Amino acid sequence: MEIHIDQHRCEGHALCASIAPTVFEVGADDLSTVVDPNPPDDIEPKVRMAVDACPTLAISLGGSRS
Ligand code: SF4
Repeated sequence: MEIHIDQHRCEGHALCASIAPTVFEVGADDLSTVVDPNPPDDIEPKVRMAVDACPTLAISLGGSRS
């Protein structure tokens, strides 16, 4: 799974970090970053939930398992 955050779209709502805190982290600059680009399989549903929850559609998934 490849997780990408469009920093130009991210508005720091932190929904992603609240849904999958081991994968996303919102910094002091109010931008989310991916802290675990290769999360374990059991976290993958949470990552997909975060993608759907992001109000600015800033998170996208790629890679062979997406
Ligand atoms: S939910 Fe979307 S807009 Fe909010 S911090 Fe996460 S990536 Fe950024």
